[in-house]
Amino acid sequence: MNSTQDRQPARDFAPERQAIIDLPAIFHNVRCLRSMVAPAKFMAVVKADAYGHGMLPVARTALAAGADWLGTAHVSEALQLRGAGLDGPVLAWLHTPSTDFGAAIAQGIDLGCSGWELEHIVAAARELERPARIHLKIDTGLGRNGSSMADWDDLVSRAIAFQDDGLLRVVGVFSHLAVADEPHRPETDQQLECFRQAVAIAEDAGADLQLRHIANTPATLSRPDSHFDMVRVGLGIYGLSPFDDQTSAALGLRPAMTLQTRVALCKDVPAGQGVSYGLHYVADAPTTLGLIPLGYADGVPRVATGGPVRVNGTTYPVVGRIAMDQMVIDFGPRGRDGFADAEVPGSALGAAAVLFGNGDDGGPLVEQWAEAAGTINYEVVTRISQRVPRTYIDLPEGA
Ligand SMILES: *Cc1c(COP(=O)(O)O)cnc(C)c1O
Repeated sequence: MNSTQDRQPARDFAPERQAIIDLPAIFHNVRCLRSMVAPAKFMAVVKADAYGHGMLPVARTALAAGADWLGTAHVSEALQLRGAGLDGPVLAWLHTPSTDFGAAIAQGIDLGCSGWELEHIVAAARELERPARIHLKIDTGLGRNGSSMADWDDLVSRAIAFQDDGLLRVVGVFSHLAVADEPHRPETDQQLECFRQAVAIAEDAGADLQLRHIANTPATLSRPDSHFDMVRVGLGIYGLSPFDDQTSAALGLRPAMTLQTRVALCKDVPAGQGVSYGLHYVADAPTTLGLIPLGYADGVPRVATGGPVRVNGTTYPVVGRIAMDQMVIDFGPRGRDGFADAEVPGSALGAAAVLFGNGDDGGPLVEQWAEAAGTINYEVVTRISQRVPRTYIDLPEGA
């Protein structure tokens, strides 16, 4: 054995970086939210790869926890669910003229319809000789998708005519709220009133509605009068709070994603050392820097300097610019509080570095990253990139 091999450290095969997805937490969140809305049905919204958590494991977990429906934005996402053998109720609501409505109908996927889609859906249904199932969408004030109130009578009567021809069934009417995360605002009342009117118009025209739905996560939590026949919950099943002034814990929810890596380098530097592109941070005393091997290519927002990283029980802010692959924390002047081993060069090398998690033990939360980046928790988790492997904490056997 030569001396080089002698000096090789033991290899450590723990993941270099990972988003750990706590499926039991998602199970708990679905259970908790579902019990708040019963007897209304519960749709788990799993669009955008389940807000970055992984669509298929999340969908299976939500169903195991009692979710009645799955929701996606795109038909292509709903088709992925079908491809994985999930054959329960699924609704997809955001289409373009290139959407494969035929595949959706053939796979028994319910379709949201704001207006122009109707003829496309009917053409596909005619060709397949299979009626489509549609949920008509009314824009009650959000100003995005959905039929305007002015066009609603016409949309409803055209849809009912196609229903009479056996080409589709109008099974639902739905809408989306604009300000439910700010429960004091009056616009939610106005949207709910508009929604009730739209529902009444559809029912008067002969629609036999099974599902009237408008509530997202914030409305599910703050507006029981918005639950109607079903709620569509995304953020909440991931254990995150939609409210500025209420934490996940206060809502009884458990954050499901932990983003962590391992310290890639510990380095003593002199006073005056600049850090990262632009040298916007300069050490004012001799200190120890820690290199964190996650960057904007992994989905950590580049603007989020100051975001928290937890190492060995202490939380340090990111200093200097976040780069594509890496960022830097300052462990502080050698020997300063909180970094007891700082005298030993490289002592934190390989230590777990947690950017955010479930907050247990006072660890950092995704909301702190959202604040550092000037955005919301939804965006931070959803944009964690595919370069970061997802690893799953599974449900206990038999769940
Ligand atoms: C994304 C989405 C939801 C879920 O919203 P959350 O606030 O994450 O619960 C519900 N409905 C529609 C139409 C959506 O696009």
